[in-house]
Amino acid sequence: MPYASPVAEVRFLLDKVLGYDRLAQTATFAEAGAETTEAILTELGRLCDGVLAPLNRSGDLTPARLENGIVRTSPGFKDGYKAIAEGGWLGLAATPDHGGMGLPLTLNTVMNEWMSGACLSLQLCPLLSQGQIEALEHHASDTIKDLYLPRLISGEWTGTMNLTEPQAGSDVGALRTKAEPRADGSFAITGQKIFITWGDHDVADNVCHLVLARLPDGAPGTRGISLFMVPKLIPDAQGNPGERNALRVVSLEHKLGIHGSPTCVMSFEGATGWMVGKPHGGMAAMFTMMNNARLGVGAQGIGVAEAAYQHALAYARDRKQGRTPLGDGAIIDHADVRRMLAVMKAEVFAARAIALDCGISLDMARATGKGSWQARAALLTPIAKAHGTDIGCEVSSMGVQVHGGMGFIEETGAAQYFRDARITPIYEGTNGIQAMDLVGRKMMDGGEAAFRLLQEVEDNAEAARAEAPDLAGKVWEAAETLREATEWLVAQSADDRNAGAVAYLRAFARVLGAHYHLKAALTDPAGPRARLARVFIDRLLPEHESLLVQLRAGAAALYALTAEDLESA
Ligand SMILES: Cc1cc2nc3c(=O)[nH]c(=O)nc-3n(C[C@H](O)[C@H](O)[C@H](O)COP(=O)(O)OP(=O)(O)OC[C@H]3O[C@@H](n4cnc5c(N)ncnc54)[C@H](O)[C@@H]3O)c2cc1C
Repeated sequence: MPYASPVAEVRFLLDKVLGYDRLAQTATFAEAGAETTEAILTELGRLCDGVLAPLNRSGDLTPARLENGIVRTSPGFKDGYKAIAEGGWLGLAATPDHGGMGLPLTLNTVMNEWMSGACLSLQLCPLLSQGQIEALEHHASDTIKDLYLPRLISGEWTGTMNLTEPQAGSDVGALRTKAEPRADGSFAITGQKIFITWGDHDVADNVCHLVLARLPDGAPGTRGISLFMVPKLIPDAQGNPGERNALRVVSLEHKLGIHGSPTCVMSFEGATGWMVGKPHGGMAAMFTMMNNARLGVGAQGIGVAEAAYQHALAYARDRKQGRTPLGDGAIIDHADVRRMLAVMKAEVFAARAIALDCGISLDMARATGKGSWQARAALLTPIAKAHGTDIGCEVSSMGVQVHGGMGFIEETGAAQYFRDARITPIYEGTNGIQAMDLVGRKMMDGGEAAFRLLQEVEDNAEAARAEAPDLAGKVWEAAETLREATEWLVAQSADDRNAGAVAYLRAFARVLGAHYHLKAALTDPAGPRARLARVFIDRLLPEHESLLVQLRAGAAALYALTAEDLESA
């Protein structure tokens, strides 16, 4: 079953729901008018459907392998990557100063979604480069920028992100990799990193590792961490890949999914690196990269969900089983299968709207410099990441269910989406950590950004009452309930917030999802948009109430159940 990029669906969301046209009215994104956007989306769709999607199975069936210290990628991946690089896609949102197109992150988010729907394993390579490009643009010296950015943007070289160590996962501050200054201004980097995505490969000429490490005088914890550029091949005086650096791939991880993405254990053995940003300022620089990647990973979940939905829909139209209340016995006409497909479609719409709204907020923040856009984007980022990836798992699991037994059989491809999606709630900060970010750092303003966003939801619902009284009333009430819960939340201890964080994040996503569905319904009150909105608002939105009960349950009852209780019979 081929993947088809949802061009019309994204156009609809951008134009009719999310107010994307505001971007082209700013000086920063004046180039991103309707014509350019249309051309970009059409071309991107062609690449994803025609070039990348056909590689998805081969990546799964023939994983990347380590041969004499060199990683060989899956059949066809080299050509797929070449098409991405030659199309200029790595530089879509990068600065024109170094060869980028300077287009909105919103379009970049669409790109990440569609490429992931087509072939998640391959998409990870450009995703990591994008994050590195952004981190260098903001934090690197001009010398590093001039040397690395043009090559990363053209795709000649690729980027990685080296945070994780065996004892330092979510707690990055526990890392032990060392950086010792040398007389020539470079640093000797020594340590082991695990789980490094696309840590080596044969699709481009050089691999540029951004590595977190501690200087000899670095304080314990995150405050003492610095960031270093450590290339696999050290550039010579002309900037060409030269001498091999003292780093190597020790092994490749064997994974549940994304088999085509090489996940490397890396050993840095006094490798030469150059500092990016300030001494002990590594986390700030890395956050730039991680914020970009968080929205990108949210988009990955949505992309896989879209692909799984398309797959399941095609199967349900074709497969006949039993007698159905209408139609010719195709399973799409059984009420429960219709429910699954409706929920899948409604979920993808909502999660995509959240991610693209986050992209627009980031772009507006950049274009206007306004703190209110910045705060809106910061609030939406953990929701976009965690909810987008949760939906990736849930929708791809439903996709397996729609296929019945054939869903469990690898040949249909439904199982691959489910396996591939499962990593997305884990990496780039687990979804638990995202939720803690939402109820912690993102509420340090006393909930102001959240209240402003909820006001938008309520104002829109209020205005919709005349045309869609029932749907609008439900959305307004849900926003009001979430507002009260937010007022409660900001007054609680960190432990109580954290115990309810995941429930709160999902409740927020439910309310936002209903808001975008309501906006879509208003464009088409008697048509399919309104019917899909009803599915979301009647069936999925009510979940927010039980989630908010969980939020208020607090930490004490959880800790009252002791670790010994968990082991007792
Ligand atoms: C396929 C793959 C690719 C990856 N790619 C990269 C990469 O390119 N670069 C890189 O640096 N890393 C990468 N990672 C690492 C990834 O980011 C980490 O696995 C992830 O951050 C979680 O860390 P951990 O595995 O040590 O789990 P842990 O931190 O041990 O977490 C285990 C559980 O405890 C929870 N937990 C931990 N701390 C807290 C806390 N303070 N409060 C509440 N709950 C908590 C977590 O949410 C999780 O449920 C990759 C991992 C995989 C599997």
